[in-house]
Amino acid sequence: MDRTLAADLARLPELLDATRAAAAEALATLATRPVVPPTGEPPAPESLPERATGTEAALAAFHDRWEPRLSASAGPRYLGFVTGGATPAALAGDWLTAAHDQNSNSALDGGGQDLERETVGWLRELFGLSAAHSGTFVSGATMSNTTGLAIAREWLGERLGVSPAEDGAAALGPVRVLSGAPHSSIGKALSVLGLGRASLVRVPTLPGREAVDPAALERALADTPGPAVVVANAGTVNTVDFDDLRAIAALRERHDFWLHTDAAFGAFAALSPEHAHLTDGLDASDSLCIDLHKWLNVPYDSAVQFTRRRDLQARVFQNSAAYLGPLGDHPDLVHLTPENSHRLRALAAWFTLRAYGRQGHREIVERDIACARALGAALEEDPALTLLAPVRLNVVCFTLAEAPTPERVAALREAVAAEVFVTPTVYGGTAGLRAAFSNWRTTEDDVRRAAEALGAAAREIA
Ligand SMILES: *Cc1c(COP(=O)(O)O)cnc(C)c1O
Repeated sequence: MDRTLAADLARLPELLDATRAAAAEALATLATRPVVPPTGEPPAPESLPERATGTEAALAAFHDRWEPRLSASAGPRYLGFVTGGATPAALAGDWLTAAHDQNSNSALDGGGQDLERETVGWLRELFGLSAAHSGTFVSGATMSNTTGLAIAREWLGERLGVSPAEDGAAALGPVRVLSGAPHSSIGKALSVLGLGRASLVRVPTLPGREAVDPAALERALADTPGPAVVVANAGTVNTVDFDDLRAIAALRERHDFWLHTDAAFGAFAALSPEHAHLTDGLDASDSLCIDLHKWLNVPYDSAVQFTRRRDLQARVFQNSAAYLGPLGDHPDLVHLTPENSHRLRALAAWFTLRAYGRQGHREIVERDIACARALGAALEEDPALTLLAPVRLNVVCFTLAEAPTPERVAALREAVAAEVFVTPTVYGGTAGLRAAFSNWRTTEDDVRRAAEALGAAAREIA
């Protein structure tokens, strides 16, 4: 063994303590350092180190060269995209994931798969899903949507008497995927799956809304020759609008389609009694996407995908090889997702659910919703700013009251980036910004700071 590597092995507990101290220091300043550091030139690239210098030297180099350039995205005023942090228990679980370094793919190597199955069961309870849904962990909602739509593709094949998994997507002929306001990752998934981005047909939404118009969806289904795929949206990123999932599911009485629901963060409305009705009908989905690195507040990267047709899922993703054995009733995880080897991704989710339970996670969701409401109210009162849409759940979509050109809106975003990070959007043809609340640390005090910074910068620009 290399002498430096051997020395690191001998001092491993000490090095882990040093790493713990570095992590604790980074977390201690999360709420006070710039949310996004000023964009400077990246440091000049270094060439590959030739000789070993050990973990302590790597810690020092990371601390000097890269740490100051990282955003405080785990902190309370990073409101861009839809971004969660990591609860203390989730972080602990994530550290132990790396320490145990499991590849929990098959029943041959210990209890990792069973831990994942237990965690999936807890998530099913959290979101009120029935036992008909089986689930697996994947890296994010994009991969969850891709997996769900891959199962949908195989279902289309079943209806048409072919198998895309065996014969390729071309065996299906033209496919129609109907959706009102789909997330960008749906087009990406269709591209990856060989169905093509052009298979996505936009169905009109209700007036002034991002929720699909069920009557328009029914007309689109009637116009579709043969079976179709419907992507329902439970929580759009701009205005957190929800399709009427029960109404969509009811259309199956008259039309033949696979119902995939993208509930990446919207599924968490089920935790708030006041908003749980938005997720009514979620269980009727044939496949379902829920992100965990957003509102469950586990570290990247983690999501779950559920389906009622695990048989079709295994047909798509089976990884048959002599040493892996037959699939059986509980297929090894290697046969259920695009990945073969993967980390014991479930452990961070297991930890946070074990530590805080339904009540703890409900409190996070309700506090984030209250924060979004409070920011919405504050911005509405500010004459320099205006809301682009009502605050339906945890996102505030807003812009400058006067002349919201893309340039002026970008200037507003940049002016506040050290204090509060928000991301650009276009809503109803108007350039705007989104503030999305999904971090467990965020409080009303952060809302006050965000509102003050945005108001002051907007007046400066006006
Ligand atoms: C975030 C999001 C996605 C994509 O999620 P990733 O985790 O970034 O892959 C898909 N759909 C919706 C509605 C989202 O909010």
